[in-house]
This record gives sequence, C-alpha cells and structure tokens, in this order.
Amino acid sequence: MNLSKSKYCRGITCPKMLWLDENKPEVGETINNDSILENGQKVGEVAKKLFGENIDVAYSDDLKQMLDDTQTAINKNNNAVITEASFCYDNCFCSVDILIKKGNDYEVYEVKSSTQIKDIYLDDISYQVYVLSKLNLHVTKACIVFINSSYERHGKLNLKKLFNIEDVTKIAFDKQEEIASNIKSLKEMSSKKEPDVLISKNCVSPYECPYFAYCTSSLEKPNIFSVKRLRTTSKFKLFNEGVVTLKDLEGCKIDDKVRTELEYRDKNTDLVNKKKIKEFLETLSYPLYFLDFETFQEAIPSYEYGHPYEQIPFQYSLHYIENGELKHKEFLAEPGIDPRRALAEKLCEDIPLDVCSLAYNMTFEKSVIKRLANIYPDLASHLMNIHDHMKDLMVPFYQMDYYNAKMAGSYSIKYVLPALFPDDPKLDYHNLDEVHNGSEAMNAYFRMNELSREDLEKLRENLLRYCELDTYAMVRILEKLNDVK
Ligand code: SF4
Repeated sequence: MNLSKSKYCRGITCPKMLWLDENKPEVGETINNDSILENGQKVGEVAKKLFGENIDVAYSDDLKQMLDDTQTAINKNNNAVITEASFCYDNCFCSVDILIKKGNDYEVYEVKSSTQIKDIYLDDISYQVYVLSKLNLHVTKACIVFINSSYERHGKLNLKKLFNIEDVTKIAFDKQEEIASNIKSLKEMSSKKEPDVLISKNCVSPYECPYFAYCTSSLEKPNIFSVKRLRTTSKFKLFNEGVVTLKDLEGCKIDDKVRTELEYRDKNTDLVNKKKIKEFLETLSYPLYFLDFETFQEAIPSYEYGHPYEQIPFQYSLHYIENGELKHKEFLAEPGIDPRRALAEKLCEDIPLDVCSLAYNMTFEKSVIKRLANIYPDLASHLMNIHDHMKDLMVPFYQMDYYNAKMAGSYSIKYVLPALFPDDPKLDYHNLDEVHNGSEAMNAYFRMNELSREDLEKLRENLLRYCELDTYAMVRILEKLNDVK
C-alpha cells in the first residue's frame, strides 16, 4: 500500500477504516464535510503567505511531477519558503504545507483550520518528519499552525495574529520509533483480510467514520446507538461494558430523559406535563415576536471586527402576534457585502423595545444579537433589550414536558414539527423549493453573487420562504402548547 499523511492518520485511528477505504469503500456512507474542506482549503491558501514570498509546488495527479518540482525548488534555492513541497520514502508520500529551507536545515509547518491542536495533528506532522528524515533532510523544527480563535479583524488581515504557531519538534522526534512501527503494520495489514476492530470512540472522533453503519450491522436493532438522549461518550462506555440492546439499557442507571425516550418508543400517546407547559406559557407576553436567523461561518473573517468561525447573520424571519393578529417581517442581505449593519438596524426597527420574543434554541439567536451589540455600540442598548426579553420555545421539548415517539428522542425543531403536525403540507420542509435547511441556506446566500438577475430573484424568494417557515413553525408549535395546557 502507498501511504499518504491522511491515509496514515486514518489507519492509526482505526486500521479497519483504512482497510475499508482501500478494499471496500462502497460500504461507507457519504459524510457531508464540504464546509470543513472548503474552510481547510481557504486557510491553507492564506497560510502560504505567512512567511512572505514562497515557491508553490503545484498540485498534480502525477505525484512524480510534484516530487520533481520540489527537488528543483530545493536545488535552486539555498534559502526558501516552499509550499506543498512533496516527498516520498519507501512508498510513504507527504506534501508539507509549508517547508522553510535554511541552507541544509528544514522547518516543517503543518497548517490546520482548527482553533486547537488535536492529538491526530501530532501524528500527522510526526509522519512528515519521518519521511523527510528518512530522506536525509535535516529537520530542525516541526510546528503546527492553527487558527487563533480570539483574533479580531481590524482592516487588513494580520496573518501573524490570525495564526497560532505551536512548536512540537520534541513530540515529533519522540514519536519516530512509533511511526516506523505503525507504518510497517499498516502496510502489512493491507494484504491481509479485513481487520477485526471493535467499535469505540474512534468511530466518531477525531473523524466521523463513514463505516459506522457497516461495522454495527450485526448488532441487534434497535440498540443503544439509536437512543438520541444518550450522550455519545456514554454510548461507547456502556457498549464496552456489554450494554447493547435497549433491554440491556433499561437495567442501567440512566438519566430520566433517556428513560422517557425508551418508555415512549412504542407508545401511541403524547406525554404532556400540563403544569410545566402552563408555567412556560405564563412567562410569555404579547405582542409576541418569533425570531430566527440564518448565518454563515468563516475560518478567516472577511469583515471588520470579525472573529474566526463567528456566526455572521445574513437573514432573519420575524412573525409577530399583535392584538390577536399574526403578521410577518423579514430581512435578507444583499450578497457580497458585510450583511451585519443593515441587518442589525432593520432588527431594531422591526422589534420594538421591551417586547417578548421567542426563538427556538435561543442561545444561538442571543449570541448573534450580543455580537452585533458589541460591534455597533449605537445600537447596543436596543439590541440588548431584545436579547434580554427573549424566551426559548425549545424548553418544553428539551425538558420533555411535551413528548411523543415521533420526536425520536430529539428536541430539534426538525423532529418536533413533523411529530406535532404529521399531515400538514404547509409545515413540511420537503415541500420547499431549493432551500430546505440551514446549510443549504448558507450555500444559497454565497451563490447569490454569481447568478443572473432572474435566477437571483428566484433564489432570494426560496431563501425567504425557507426562513419564513422556521418562524411560522414556531407560531404553530406555540398554538399546540396553548391547546394542550
Ligand atoms: S466504524 Fe469504527 S470500527 Fe468501523 S471502521 Fe470506522 S472507526 Fe473502525
């Protein structure tokens, strides 16, 4: 088997994952990590400028070409920053994100779009140091470059502040024996039969493994992995103790909410705690506003005062009940410009002071509003007034004061809504055009820039109708709570 750094990292996380990648990839499921990959690529490109002028080894399907181009760059320059420098030793291939050549010494920099160092990154860079060292290159430094989450953009992007650089040279050299032995066993494994590996937390961390359904196909169903209210860490802990089926789980010390999920699995009735629902409803006052934001995240902030990965709002829907009448307002930013100021101003216009508003999972809406208040001091007191008068419609469902089997243990609105209104086509996200969820909304917003006027209008309309359904759904959910109280 030819190894690359990503294959090596997958193999040491779980040898069976690598074996399946190589021999039976068709049994894996598709995991949508497009936005992670996209952010990773953007971060990689920006980081190339971190040390000034660089020689870039162009990506090619022909690895030999990349190896030759790297050698040319190394031979021609005594001192240079080379990006994507590529090396191969004994069928172990690697491209170094940033290689700094200082005479006969080499520094290796691995760029990550994450805001913290994970253990697997240390294996990744140690593998690169192994390949270079075996080729008799004198590696003097190995560093992980990752995003500084507290960076705030002021004017031009400041790369020195945007990135943290952690020197992990000692760790990388300490791992060299381990790397050699891992490579040997991974190569040997490839020619053998499918390895027998027991599922563990490695199935979900540091990567979500696409073979989870395949590896658990022999377990009795339903089993503990289908219980939503059980934490992932608890699932694997219990599984290691021999707890597999729901019957096994019933005999364990478990949280009340997990027990309710199990208890109601096969019941046709609703669990309704009228007292608690009434208490919740009494915290609301009218006129009542229902708010939902759509946002996007960027690893590298495009706009002034932006932080890496902060939620940037570009759209909201606002239903409100005033004098018993349901009304609607909405906002969708123009594409390609900073959407925050216009959105914050419109929000202050649309939600008066001192009124009660509802969000579904208000932690999210509140954090967006708080950031806007930090950025725009002139709007801060109004924004914080909205923030302080917000209530969370998710609470009765999170607490299971209202629950039925169709919610399948979840309190997400995407489960709660069809569970409460199974036959209402107006409340079915599947009946929307083009935009059906938050990530499609985010992608649609980015696409708006590239469209013709006619297509743009259509997409705008689809985005507006999607977000409108989010708050209309909240209105109907509240009606349901009022009906059962
Ligand atoms: S699901 Fe778990 S055991 Fe199966 S291949 Fe993936 S990591 Fe390995």
